[in-house]
Amino acid sequence: MNVNDSEVVASVLVNRGYTVCSEPQTADLILVNTCSIRENAEQRIWGRLAEFRSLKRKNPALMVGVIGCMAERLKEKLIEQEQVVDLVVGPDAYRELPNLVQMVKSGQKGVNVELSREETYAEIEPVRYDSNGVSAFVSIMRGCNNMCAYCVVPYTRGAERSRSSESILNEVRELIKAGYKEVTLLGQNVDSYSEPGCSFAQLLEKVALLSPDMRVRFSTSHPKDMSDKVLHVMAKYRNICKSIHLPAQSGSTRILELMNRTYTREEYLERIKAIRAVLPGCSISTDLIAGFCTETEEDHQQTLSLMREVGYDFAFMFIYSERPNTKAARRYKDDVSEEVKARRLNEIIVLQNELSLKGKQPYIGKTVEVLAEGYSKKSGEKLYGRTTQNQVVVFPKGDNHIGDYVMVAPARCTSATLIAES
Ligand code: SAH
Ligand code: SF4
Repeated sequence: MNVNDSEVVASVLVNRGYTVCSEPQTADLILVNTCSIRENAEQRIWGRLAEFRSLKRKNPALMVGVIGCMAERLKEKLIEQEQVVDLVVGPDAYRELPNLVQMVKSGQKGVNVELSREETYAEIEPVRYDSNGVSAFVSIMRGCNNMCAYCVVPYTRGAERSRSSESILNEVRELIKAGYKEVTLLGQNVDSYSEPGCSFAQLLEKVALLSPDMRVRFSTSHPKDMSDKVLHVMAKYRNICKSIHLPAQSGSTRILELMNRTYTREEYLERIKAIRAVLPGCSISTDLIAGFCTETEEDHQQTLSLMREVGYDFAFMFIYSERPNTKAARRYKDDVSEEVKARRLNEIIVLQNELSLKGKQPYIGKTVEVLAEGYSKKSGEKLYGRTTQNQVVVFPKGDNHIGDYVMVAPARCTSATLIAES
């Protein structure tokens, strides 16, 4: 989501005559787009700002801005705490950036952290300055109306609002013209996308119909809202990728209730059953939090057993990080020790590695279709891409090019990657 926001920011500035450069040393303006979801995300930003301080010493005209969620959360405090910061701009104020930069040029600080109920940057065509030309993100909504007790997003990104389907479809049409082969529709809770006369299932279908050669992915689905309609649309169109990211967060109903996720373990598993029934072979991934407030060993075991029961193909796994002003921070005690959190996370990771490896076995020796996205990090002779199930495959380049659909027969795998030798 932040990658796509940065592309919107680049667009706003490029339209005013700015150009994107690749080295901070050559920049007149550095904007750092930030995440507040966990404390270590913010810690990294403080580190980056210290680096920019030394750049500014060499080039006093350099302007530095903090944008995104951390700007929204800390507001003017950022400028008070870190002198190097000239600009503080929240996620809904990017259209104001050119004016704010002008203020900085005239010797003031530029701050705008107002949240909006309407802003979706609908007609702004993102400048995909760091793109592989194959795969693009398209935001379909902003903000979030859920109040998961641990989560800072509703505070930093504001209320949920949907972007007009017409502007979404126009953007995808432009991407098709530009040769892109895959779009990922983005929202904090895509299933609650709504426009009069257009639900998420309908939007997904409209996007899929634009071109059979354009793969369509989406993220994130909320277990309480993911409908069978969406599953049936997925089943109907070959170009909608058979992969669902369905964050569980915990396998314990007691913890889920404290988290305010509004589903039980059983209801979550019922959604998994629906996916398996309508979309056999669909991959399922998740997000998990280790060590949420009051989590007992028994709760943790429930998370491990949920993982085994679902057999996730992939997971993002986190240690619970208390975020100021969230319900959990105000009402519960962050009472699981760091040591126990780390141990539980480690157990979750070890199990997921096992499950990821197991999930790849059925593909060994079979032929799978891969969309080539780039060169493998290890070898210029090899390409990598993903299957419809979002499995990463590395394969010899041969006569193939980035952006091609290639039939590949993986011969072996690690827990992260399928590997084809010829
Ligand atoms: N809207 C998406 C998630 C957005 S945040 C959803 O509801 O699924 C991405 C992930 O970060 C979350 O799924 C959660 O697992 C994790 N996360 C959010 N807040 C966190 C916190 N305070 N500590 C640790 N992990 C957190
Ligand atoms: Fe955060 Fe919950 Fe909204 Fe996801 S659904 S962004 S976890 S509040």
